[in-house]
Amino acid sequence: MSYVSATLRRLVTQRAAQQCEYCRFPQSASLFAFEMEHIIAEKHDGITEAENLALSCPCCNRFKGTDLGSIDPETQQLTPFFNPRLQNWSDHFELEVGTIVPLTPEGRVTAKILQFNLPERILEREQLMAIGQYPPPTPERT
Ligand SMILES: [Zn+2]
Repeated sequence: MSYVSATLRRLVTQRAAQQCEYCRFPQSASLFAFEMEHIIAEKHDGITEAENLALSCPCCNRFKGTDLGSIDPETQQLTPFFNPRLQNWSDHFELEVGTIVPLTPEGRVTAKILQFNLPERILEREQLMAIGQYPPPTPERT
């Protein structure tokens, strides 16, 4: 994996308002450092530049791996993942208590492959909601 400079890392982290750009988990509530995720993996010629990087919690990053998308369970069509650089989270997902409900084909494949709604992840979100730390404020789009 390519080196991500401290400057670029800071830009990506601040742009994301220090939350996972997929599941919106706040970095401040995580025991683990969030990661620089290549939206298009380097294996698929994705570049290590701001427009191809997202801040990701370790969980979302592990499940996504180098995948670019999956088969939408509703339409059976090959569908790209939600792209946090090009799309708005709230157009593709909504929260129902601690569950992230996908609204679109991109939302469905992302929620499925990144396993947003594993019981322990829902529970974590609900615990944060109870203390007012989830969802964090939506980052300003630049
Ligand atoms: Zn995440």
